[in-house]
Amino acid sequence: MLSLDVPQSSSKPEFVNTSRILVVEDEDVIRDMIVLALEEEGYEVITASDGRTALNLLQNPASGDSEESFDLVILDLMLPQVHGLDICRLLRYQGNIVPILMLSAKASETDRVLGLEVGADDYLTKPFSMRELVARCRALLRRQSFGNLSQTSIIRKFRDISLYTQECRVIVRGEEINLSPKEFRLLELFMSYPRRVWSREQLIEQVWGPDFLGDTKTVDVHIRWLREKLELDPSQPEYLITVRGFGYRFG
Ligand code: CA
Repeated sequence: MLSLDVPQSSSKPEFVNTSRILVVEDEDVIRDMIVLALEEEGYEVITASDGRTALNLLQNPASGDSEESFDLVILDLMLPQVHGLDICRLLRYQGNIVPILMLSAKASETDRVLGLEVGADDYLTKPFSMRELVARCRALLRRQSFGNLSQTSIIRKFRDISLYTQECRVIVRGEEINLSPKEFRLLELFMSYPRRVWSREQLIEQVWGPDFLGDTKTVDVHIRWLREKLELDPSQPEYLITVRGFGYRFG
């Protein structure tokens, strides 16, 4: 019998939209609106309400782990303690190339030019629509992932598993695991389509290619190897789930 878990929709998606965004804004109402809009898009959002806290977060990530760094900073210009322009200038001076979207209540051309001159990547003048903000963020993140191929970037993250597509690395519960190219490709496919059920034939086609001559048991073997590397208890898988009569799904 087929049993499919129907995932409960929650306000916060379990699959994050790959990117971690720092929102620096001292006005609570605006900050909350930005956070809401970005979280709705699936981004992981961290906040700071003054310049000092923002600098601390940007300069001393919790660990050297790249997972703790930011993919984008939304930076208000007028901030308590440290001005947005100074934060921007300092980060660039220190060689930090994180994309920065600057927010300002001032619409004057001078501010705009100054913001871009000290190294901001884009500039939005208040009031702005959340749709506009999200679109600008998306564009900056896209530009970043194409522009800095050498940059570490988490493309897929699910619970304890992070998969870095550009580097072909997988971190499970904080430790890097070794995967063969086929295992990596298989996991990448699963993580790209959470909860989608794949037949063995579809997996063969996607991972091994249409010219593959072996049989579909190959898939089962690779799933078993993957489970041994990913699952706490491979006999009770939490990630790679067998869907009887159909195939497999992730999550
Ligand atoms: Ca402000």
